[in-house]
Amino acid sequence: MSSALSIYEDDDVFAMAREQFRVIADYLQIDVNNRERLMYPKRAIAVTLPVHMDDGSTKTFQGYRVQHHLTLGPTKGGTRFAPSLSMGETAALAMWMSWKCALNGLPYGGAKGGIACDPTKLSRSELEAVSRRYMQEMIPFVGPHTDIMGPDMGTNEQVMAWFMDTYSVYQGYAVSEIVTGKPVSIGGTEGRREATGRGVVYLVERAMDMLKMDPEKCTVIVQGFGNVGSVAALSLALRTGLKVVGLSDATVALYNAKGIDVKAAEQHVLKKGNLRAFDQGDRIDPNEMLLQKCDVLVPAAVDRVITERNAAKLQCRILAEAANGPTSPEADRILDQRWDEVFVIPDILCNAGGVIVSYFEWVQGLQSFMWSETEVTDKLFRILEHSFTQVIRRAKVHKISHRMAALAIGVERVMKAKATRGLFP
Ligand code: GLU
Repeated sequence: MSSALSIYEDDDVFAMAREQFRVIADYLQIDVNNRERLMYPKRAIAVTLPVHMDDGSTKTFQGYRVQHHLTLGPTKGGTRFAPSLSMGETAALAMWMSWKCALNGLPYGGAKGGIACDPTKLSRSELEAVSRRYMQEMIPFVGPHTDIMGPDMGTNEQVMAWFMDTYSVYQGYAVSEIVTGKPVSIGGTEGRREATGRGVVYLVERAMDMLKMDPEKCTVIVQGFGNVGSVAALSLALRTGLKVVGLSDATVALYNAKGIDVKAAEQHVLKKGNLRAFDQGDRIDPNEMLLQKCDVLVPAAVDRVITERNAAKLQCRILAEAANGPTSPEADRILDQRWDEVFVIPDILCNAGGVIVSYFEWVQGLQSFMWSETEVTDKLFRILEHSFTQVIRRAKVHKISHRMAALAIGVERVMKAKATRGLFP
């Protein structure tokens, strides 16, 4: 490995994405000459963001953007505001976006970006200043045909609106297609906010149907109550009819065998900001919550929560990976052995609803066109259905895990596109 690539190497999340890629590259028998070319990001940008704080001080934040490959179109991916964000983690997340976009047939390379900060500790004006400064520093490197940002952990529609405004002011006209996940009032797409959660629910229902599970008799545990976890929990409870027996956010994990009222949890979070004081259930160790008996387990928070320490002890029938990278490669080896006990819906399939609807939003922006929420959701489900069928078929025919199948389809598409375009000069 040449030292120029070592900026990513120290990071644990990057090491995980690299190991996943190695397994797939071995399975696809990818030539050693092509492995590094496929795996390492094309571009990685680090920026320092000096920002005026409310108390009069100036604080500097570190920002990142990684554009993984430019072979199939512009790059696309979310923007994460999290205290521990690093270049390596951003690169891993960008790599996963590449495989996710390719698996779902979107004409994008993967990207990811963000700022190492805790958005809950910033005032609204500080958050706006940090967001605007980040976009301003990124202007030379992004564009509607180059790299399109979207939301991720710690960001929301308002942050996307500030990004769009900053870019547009610089250009001198409204460029709505520079970001996705914007408020509908400025060119956002109906249903984008709910898209990731809705996609998770569609796939869970699809898997339950395949496994002949009766939703009315099933239970679910959801880890994470942000944009994805809350939509998934609400819909699984109120529409699909599952009993939510476990629910957590960054402040607390709750377990209640009799069922948790998710609507009440949502109301509580709207008022209090988190689940900390919500009293419908017993407080439980967050790691223990994942191990409780349930039919469906939805990790919808951070990466690497299912590891070699707990994979053998999971008691769910379906593992629906709503987060990015929730399962480590070591845990995968254990789950591979348990393939007939735990049905895995791998992350690049399970949480793809977000970027799929982001793609619709981008197309709408470019064409100044609007679709209704019903049209959007309908198109979303059709793409997910196609991807789900392909993954299940590939796994069955080749006798490989669902993750292997999903990653193999994604990696193969990028690899073929690179081979077809050739290497220049
Ligand atoms: N953050 C989302 C993901 O991890 C999607 C970002 C986007 O819409 O560009 O898939």
